[in-house]
Amino acid sequence: MNYKELIEKVDIYDVVGEHLDLKEGSGNKSFKTSCPFHSETNPSFYVNTELQIFKCFSCGRGGNALKFLQEYLNIDFQEALYELSLIAGVEDEKLSSKIVSKKQYYSILNDIHQTYQKTLFKSKFAIDFMLRRGITKETAKHFQLGFAPFDYKFLSASNFDKNLLNQLGLVTQKGSNLVDYFINRIIFPYFDISGRVIGFIGRTIADDPVKYLISRNSDLFHKNNVLFGFYNNIEFIKDKKSVNIVEGQFDVLSLYQSGVKNVVAMSGSGDNNQMGSISKMVKDISIFADGDKPGRENVYKVSKQLPIIPSVKYVDGKDPDEAIRSKETVEKFNLIEFLFKWFDEVEALTMSIDIANNIKDKIILNYLLRDISHKSRIEISRLESMLTQEADLGPLYQQKPLKIKPEDYFKNLKNKENSELDELKEKFKKTNDLSILKQIQNNIQEKKLGSKKK
Ligand SMILES: [Zn+2]
Repeated sequence: MNYKELIEKVDIYDVVGEHLDLKEGSGNKSFKTSCPFHSETNPSFYVNTELQIFKCFSCGRGGNALKFLQEYLNIDFQEALYELSLIAGVEDEKLSSKIVSKKQYYSILNDIHQTYQKTLFKSKFAIDFMLRRGITKETAKHFQLGFAPFDYKFLSASNFDKNLLNQLGLVTQKGSNLVDYFINRIIFPYFDISGRVIGFIGRTIADDPVKYLISRNSDLFHKNNVLFGFYNNIEFIKDKKSVNIVEGQFDVLSLYQSGVKNVVAMSGSGDNNQMGSISKMVKDISIFADGDKPGRENVYKVSKQLPIIPSVKYVDGKDPDEAIRSKETVEKFNLIEFLFKWFDEVEALTMSIDIANNIKDKIILNYLLRDISHKSRIEISRLESMLTQEADLGPLYQQKPLKIKPEDYFKNLKNKENSELDELKEKFKKTNDLSILKQIQNNIQEKKLGSKKK
């Protein structure tokens, strides 16, 4: 049975009604109640049994019965299907076995997390390391940190189910031996929105060349879809209606300790599901960047993945952790201002257009284009045609003079390694050919990947 047939077997009134107190609405097929997804006094949450949908006219959430279960119970598509199959009284063996194995994963991850947590406060080495980093016991407890001891057999020789450990990537085969994946590391857990552990990232406390090791991707975990601090700090984020994004786990801990509790760390690239949920809760997103070149480039990388335009907090030469501890004044920038301040004009323009290309909301896009136009002195209509990259643009940089002449401008570029990029930029200035802009984009992208590998 496919999921459409399954949905047809149930009445959305029963599905929603099981969780909410539905009252008669305007027609006999319409019911209403207070929306469970935001706080309100006048009910604006409607269920229509003719169309078999729900819709909140205040926050805009809506969909079918399956969507309701996903959002209301904070579960994924498969789990919602399973819930729906229970309501419909239909048994689907394949689906059930998948759900059963997922439940096993959640359960073993929870147990392992408990074990790691207990170990943290028993290990002198781990405690010393945390003290050196200035992390208090309260903070460690808030983020439910743990410790994987210096023991290759800590999990692999325990009573935990070897198959499950293997499927979750927590042990690896070394010759004929099964050994642990996380060894001698502070363990930072990742949670889903209902507070279930889905994976870990481990920071070595010795001089392991791999500073951070993250859980391998599994049915539950994908590193691009998670934020460290997401579940632990969600109430602070909702409360402030704003969030700070940092790069490192320790930045999250430091900011939290200094009273900035609406903070998460983002790793990986591509659309991030947890960031997607957060952006629906907040009015303001700030990227608190590391004060160096990779940190500044990360601002561009993260901005590209956000549905709204972030502002940038920045202290040159210091990462957020250091900036907060040395009580430095943190400057806050408009995103476009930041890019044009720290990158050369062509790079900044390229990045800005790239970011604008990812914005779907028309109003937000207009604001962004206005900012870009202000900084680049290129008319909005021209910027708009750059978005589609189809229009014949004609000369871009000749319409209004740059503050300095292009030739002087490029002479001033210090970094000799960037000669290929420079050539492209020069070519672009001369020809205004948009395909070159694309090459510049690729070039910056490659450089960024290269710098990450080091
Ligand atoms: Zn609502």
